[in-house]
Amino acid sequence: MRHRLVSLLAFLVCLAACGGDDQAALDVTKAKQRAKLDVVEGMVTKERLTNADKDTANWLTHGRTYDEQRYSPLAQITSANVSQLGLAWYFDLPTKRGVEATPLVIDGVMYTTGPWSIVYAIDVRTGHQIWSYDPQVDRSWAQYACCDVVNRGVAAWGKRIFVGTLDGYLVALDAESGAEVWRIDTIGRRPPYTITGAPRVIKGKVIIGNGGAEYGVRGYVTAYDADTGRRVWRTYTVPGDPSRPFESAALEKAASTWTGEWWKFGGGGSVWDSMAYDPQLDLLYIGVGNGGPWNPKIRSPQGGDNLYLSSIVALRPDTGDYVWHYQTTPGDAWDYTATQHMVLADVVIQKKTRKVLMQAPKNGFFYVLDRSNGELISAKNYVPVSWASQVDLATRRPTVNAEARYYEGQPALVRPSAAGGHNWQPMAFDPKVRRVFIPTTDSPSVYAVDKQFDFKLGLWNTGTDLAFLNMPEEPDKLEEALAQTAALSSNALVAWDPVEQREIWRYKEEGGAGGGVLATAGGLVLQGNGSGEFAAFDTSTGRKLWRFDAQSAIMAAPISFGIDGNQYISVMSGFGGAALIAGPAMDRHRPVNRSRVLTFRLGINRQLPPIEPEVPKLQPEPPPESTTADQISTGRRLYSARCAVCHGLNAVSSGLIPDLRYLDANGHKGWDGVVLFGAKRTTGMPGFDKLLTEDETDAIHAYVIRRAWDLKRATAKQ
Ligand code: CA
Repeated sequence: MRHRLVSLLAFLVCLAACGGDDQAALDVTKAKQRAKLDVVEGMVTKERLTNADKDTANWLTHGRTYDEQRYSPLAQITSANVSQLGLAWYFDLPTKRGVEATPLVIDGVMYTTGPWSIVYAIDVRTGHQIWSYDPQVDRSWAQYACCDVVNRGVAAWGKRIFVGTLDGYLVALDAESGAEVWRIDTIGRRPPYTITGAPRVIKGKVIIGNGGAEYGVRGYVTAYDADTGRRVWRTYTVPGDPSRPFESAALEKAASTWTGEWWKFGGGGSVWDSMAYDPQLDLLYIGVGNGGPWNPKIRSPQGGDNLYLSSIVALRPDTGDYVWHYQTTPGDAWDYTATQHMVLADVVIQKKTRKVLMQAPKNGFFYVLDRSNGELISAKNYVPVSWASQVDLATRRPTVNAEARYYEGQPALVRPSAAGGHNWQPMAFDPKVRRVFIPTTDSPSVYAVDKQFDFKLGLWNTGTDLAFLNMPEEPDKLEEALAQTAALSSNALVAWDPVEQREIWRYKEEGGAGGGVLATAGGLVLQGNGSGEFAAFDTSTGRKLWRFDAQSAIMAAPISFGIDGNQYISVMSGFGGAALIAGPAMDRHRPVNRSRVLTFRLGINRQLPPIEPEVPKLQPEPPPESTTADQISTGRRLYSARCAVCHGLNAVSSGLIPDLRYLDANGHKGWDGVVLFGAKRTTGMPGFDKLLTEDETDAIHAYVIRRAWDLKRATAKQ
């Protein structure tokens, strides 16, 4: 093993002496102290992860540091010279779908993931592939993924790389060769569980959660020994069947906040994305998802808070033992997950330094908690919110507006929508200016009770109607309602002061949602967006200082690292996300030209290959309608329950997964072969012959043809 001192000092000296920006010349004395850290090249250790903040050359863990601030102390690229930022290299993924990963960079190698949980190791100097690893995900698992076959990245420990796969395996790879070292089934092959989140490693334990709250699962998080893959602990987030022993006192306590027979529906509470760790307090924080089904009258008919849904939970990383929790949305009814990115920081509040945890969960409030004990310090809405008027600091609870309780029977227009005021796209925190940069969405949504709800494990089970099924079947009215909710939706990058709980600036995104965020010591905030623009903003003013046409929507978060005296910025382009939840607003996203890794530095200006001209989307003539109103109504209900999650609400899709209104004659002819018998299985479209009868398939087809004619007529009118 080659043993050497970290190259950090040399890097910093070069920044100062090799003509780097003056601002970039960090304090050399400090750098000398930092360089004391002994590092074996390519090896990730506890010491290295704990000191990741000082290791500016690398990006060692998902949020860069255990506190997940996504802040790079590198300052070679500044607001003054960012205009000279240009493309150094790009790496093409062999796909157009499902990109959400944050790459890691470890001693000259980038490790990242694409759709179907495929891992890529790339030389950061050249952009050339070193190896790739395909876990051969079971393609039928796509049906259990709400929001495409995405993966948010890998973790590293020792000389190994860890990835969670869509079909529920945790895999350890040799970092040098990409060879599989071990592979563990984390879900017992129980179908509705999926993994899309990045693992984290704490003291040699690989921590991984999973998704599937809408499909009937009971959420949990598990720790595995990084060396052997042996399971060390598993902690459930919701109680199981109370006729069996509870796994812990915390779950026994939680069971008193549930009513009815919740365990028959799984309950939800999946830990599908966010985690953070405080090494001093030795606390692991997990973000817990929404209730399953969404409609609380189904899963817990006599009410209750339903712990630990929609909560931030602190655990001991060695044992998985519960320490404290804070529930953001008691008795969640709106898919308000608290799985959004959590940032740990030490900030001065009322003259006292507080160890805080900050989160902007889907429910629209920005929370500042004391991370040592879960005390609520403050909460303020960061987007327009209509489900609650405030969070009461005395009771620690939201004041819920009665009109938002659609589950009592009256449909409600609620802000935020199930897409959330903020979703999985990571925010960033700049400790110098004490600001959080949040990719936000203001999108109201109509919630109503699904009157014909029928629980089926492995299918979309919300008990909630987002598809206007209660509305009279008048196409014009439906189009109008869809257009209205789409028109009311908007997206913005928001700079937020977490101490004063107020907005400092905002940048309104054009063309769909904003992507994840990076903040840098160069006074910059970097973010891509749905229109395919990758941009740098001035940290203090929000002024856009630089833009790059990425040719495809960007949702993933950028990273920064340093090598050979240069600061680099990388980001993955390509869209991955929810067809169902984003709904009609998804139309605004730029179609994906190619999924890529894009890497930038100063003073270089490579070009992307020219984009293929966008062919205007022409709608083939739909087959004649020869159906009854009854059949269309049945088809509409079945489509909403079985198809909308991938193909889009009301048969309006983002185009990533086919918009069925554009099916051609062959598509219509092959309907049964695909829908019932899985003719397109390899693309992730399973056959539904065990779940749908032929009559039901015909009804869905009739509904899709109706929607195709709706579109045809609407286009003709324009
Ligand atoms: Ca959800």
